[in-house]
Amino acid sequence: MNKGKKLYEGKAKIIYETNEKGLVIQHFKDDATAFNNLKKASIEGKGVLNNRISEHLLTILGQSGIKNHLIKRLNMREQLIQQVEILPIEFIVRNISTGSLTKRLGVSEGTTFEKPLIEYCYKSDELSDPVISKEHIYTFGWATENEIKAIDKTTLRINDLLQGIFRGIGIKLVDFKLEYGRVWNKDNGKQEIILADEISPDTCRLWDIKTEKKLDKDRFRKDLGNIIQAYQEVARRLGIMPEETNISEVNFGKTTSIKFKKK
Ligand code: C5P
Repeated sequence: MNKGKKLYEGKAKIIYETNEKGLVIQHFKDDATAFNNLKKASIEGKGVLNNRISEHLLTILGQSGIKNHLIKRLNMREQLIQQVEILPIEFIVRNISTGSLTKRLGVSEGTTFEKPLIEYCYKSDELSDPVISKEHIYTFGWATENEIKAIDKTTLRINDLLQGIFRGIGIKLVDFKLEYGRVWNKDNGKQEIILADEISPDTCRLWDIKTEKKLDKDRFRKDLGNIIQAYQEVARRLGIMPEETNISEVNFGKTTSIKFKKK
């Protein structure tokens, strides 16, 4: 299998074509953005960790019957995935109130919901991914009522499975974002919708159960520092670490010259 030309470059990932029909390569970059691109940085090692964490979580979901785009991880930064036509909708699941929800609705921070809340956002950088209702999705033909019904069901099941995985390693799954895409099922010749994109500390809010320490991208959004250490902590607790285990944020100070003693 050969890597072909770049098909798409997003904020944190690049998609490359391959010489195999229906398969593409997803490359995880170190780039981090927040607040609709207003805040940007490169965080060394983030792509490696997200590649590994997302592979792990999507594999477990796949084993639990959640169809998804992952075929296999190829190397430290790349995965072979099924090419899908991404729905222009972000599916946000919230178990505890925080983030944009509390800002938008004035709900108090840290409230645990009786039932998970699903929100839909329209994927548009120019419009800053606005929250939309199901009626917008149907009116603009982004998905049908039956498709959304099935996606909601899958999304809630994913929430249950992920909450279980994270609870087992002392982490609260506060909220997360999912994306889905359309593919042709070769076996039955029908179109179907499968889970796509990634599930990682970039797309989830993960709090330590005991201390409520943030182990996710909020460390970047809120300038809390130790971003890579937090992502590594998630990978370590999940029982996976990338091949390169010595990733750390390196701050280079002023360079100084080294004097050698004359012999
Ligand atoms: O910012 P907000 O509170 O709406 O984010 C909810 C959840 O969705 C967070 O876990 C965040 O990381 C994720 N998200 C994302 N990509 C976006 C928007 C939100 O991964 N474009």
